Amino acid sequence: MTELLQIRGLNVVFSGFRAVTDLDLTVSAGELRFLIGPNGAGKTTLIDVITGLTRPTSGSVRFAGEELVGRREHRIVQLGIGRTFQTSVVFEQLTVLENLDLAASFRRPLAARLRRRRDVSDQVAAALETTGLAELAYRPAAVLSHGQRQWLEIGMLLAQQPRLLLLDEPVAGMSRDERARTGELLRQVARDHTVVVVEHDMDFLRRFASTVTVLHEGRLLCEGTVAQVQADPRVQEVYLGR
Ligand code: ADP
Repeated sequence: MTELLQIRGLNVVFSGFRAVTDLDLTVSAGELRFLIGPNGAGKTTLIDVITGLTRPTSGSVRFAGEELVGRREHRIVQLGIGRTFQTSVVFEQLTVLENLDLAASFRRPLAARLRRRRDVSDQVAAALETTGLAELAYRPAAVLSHGQRQWLEIGMLLAQQPRLLLLDEPVAGMSRDERARTGELLRQVARDHTVVVVEHDMDFLRRFASTVTVLHEGRLLCEGTVAQVQADPRVQEVYLGR
């Protein structure tokens, strides 16, 4: 498989505190990769570095052959990387459709947006269908359930047509049904995109994850299938030995 994201020798030091240390990570095109690790493991920092929010102290982040370190956040979005945050970015007063439309317009400069107006609508329609929110298209986002809102956020990323989606704990706070629905949605999204998901829920991982990367204290602890990482004594120590 083609390597889409290559992180090499990454270090992030915040005023003397090492949040990420000597990290190498490769994600291939079309993967649905899960990233786990206890609080403070460096997961969010890693995503912040990939998306240009945090500049690393040293190291390289290559995406589709392009170096991302030193690029501005909006340039990284234009290169095809979208992320969700733990806090919601949905506009409550706007309808589901308007939220998607707005998101779709983020990636392109205005002139290109107007020229490609039809394409934008197509991608919004596709995002509505994928997320199963078509019936709610004209409802304000304020009426959405917690799960529906998370799906809208994923739809807002899809509307930007990214190649890589970075999702931060998408099933946190969801009901059992919503989790299952989200797992199916992620699988569907991963058919045409590469997806990296930060997630803690082990039941969810067992059901939907193929490859899991475990971070601990800013370092890569191990990588493998859910069964492999669960059986790894280092992972057991990190999660259970505290
Ligand atoms: P995770 O997402 O795995 O819980 P984080 O990436 O949020 O971990 O944090 C890794 C470590 O870096 C934590 O100890 C956190 O306190 C620290 N950290 C994160 N951001 C900053 C910052 N801006 N300044 C100082 N320390 C930070």
